[in-house]
Amino acid sequence: SNKLLSLENLWITYYKGNKSAYAVRGVSLEVNYNQVVGIVGESGSGKSTLGHSIIGLLPNNARVEKGKIIFEETDLAKINKSDFYRFRGKRGIFMIFQDPMTSLNPTIKVKEQLVEIIKNGPNENSVNTLSHWFIGKVNKSEIVRDEKQLIESLKKVGFRNPDEILDKYPHQLSGGERQRIMIAMAYLLKPKLLIADEPTTALDVITQAQVLKMLLELKEEYKSSIIFISHDITLVSQISDKVIVMYGGIVMEEASSEEMLKNPLNPYTKGLVASIPNYFKGEGKISSIPGFPPNIFELPQGCPFNPRCNLAMSVCKSQLPKLKSIGESHSVACHLYS
Ligand code: ATP
Ligand code: SF4
Ligand code: MG
Repeated sequence: SNKLLSLENLWITYYKGNKSAYAVRGVSLEVNYNQVVGIVGESGSGKSTLGHSIIGLLPNNARVEKGKIIFEETDLAKINKSDFYRFRGKRGIFMIFQDPMTSLNPTIKVKEQLVEIIKNGPNENSVNTLSHWFIGKVNKSEIVRDEKQLIESLKKVGFRNPDEILDKYPHQLSGGERQRIMIAMAYLLKPKLLIADEPTTALDVITQAQVLKMLLELKEEYKSSIIFISHDITLVSQISDKVIVMYGGIVMEEASSEEMLKNPLNPYTKGLVASIPNYFKGEGKISSIPGFPPNIFELPQGCPFNPRCNLAMSVCKSQLPKLKSIGESHSVACHLYS
């Protein structure tokens, strides 16, 4: 089959004191081999939660309540946390986290972190935490043996002075440099699935373009698939074959990148597309969606977007819209289309 990953009706809750709330509600999506799938939405829509669930790194107060996460033959929602490491790393799943400081160990030099990755990948002892994927010390001879490979990977991500970089601690690097180290790790691991969570948000436009190019090169070289997460629909559309729009934990719309920009159907997606700056007309930002996305502990009844939607009807205030297929490879969740 052509399918690498499929999420089936996934529900994820966070617990806070004696309360719980859904951050992901009934999400289904598919990622094919060698495909880039973009996930876009405003802050709090559930994008990172979805990404963390796929790689088995949800925080302790989160739980997959329902649904499947099928990676090749295995349902990752069913396996033990301690068995997860087999699916990470080498030819498995790798994630570039939203904040690269959480995935680089601050007390270990870049060189040793990269050697650890070559040797073990993220390992069994590091499965329960977002940080410290890379633990344990590596002996000198191994470092020397692997040095060529390390330098190669750092050159691939544009470092002209790999030797100097290898000798640094993560806090001695800029945000962009740290992100490139994460991509260098991906080069070393050759993952089948790379989840890149806002990998370019903290970067200037030129570095941003370079990082995107590197991700696409990695995809070409190892036939990897990528889940690219961002709040920026222009960026997501540039890099993705298919785009998923999330809001309030649900999928609002799914379409090819081209279709999503040309023919958005959901009023929320229309709002995102309308807020793309139009440089050609020199108009800058045309509009943005008024109001703010909801807190999951105070989600409105019905469609999560209804308090901000100027087309909301009474049904929108009581029923969650379901994702419906509209034409070829275009689906939308919105009561206007049912
Ligand atoms: P952003 O664009 O800001 O990164 P996101 O789409 O990645 O947002 P998530 O980080 O998945 O959103 O968060 C989804 C919702 O879950 C938010 O309302 C957030 O406040 C909540 N949430 C996230 N992590 C936790 C946690 N550890 N405990 C409780 N609630 C959480
Ligand atoms: Fe707006 Fe209703 Fe569609 Fe939600 S379901 S986007 S509130 S029209
Ligand atoms: Mg996030």
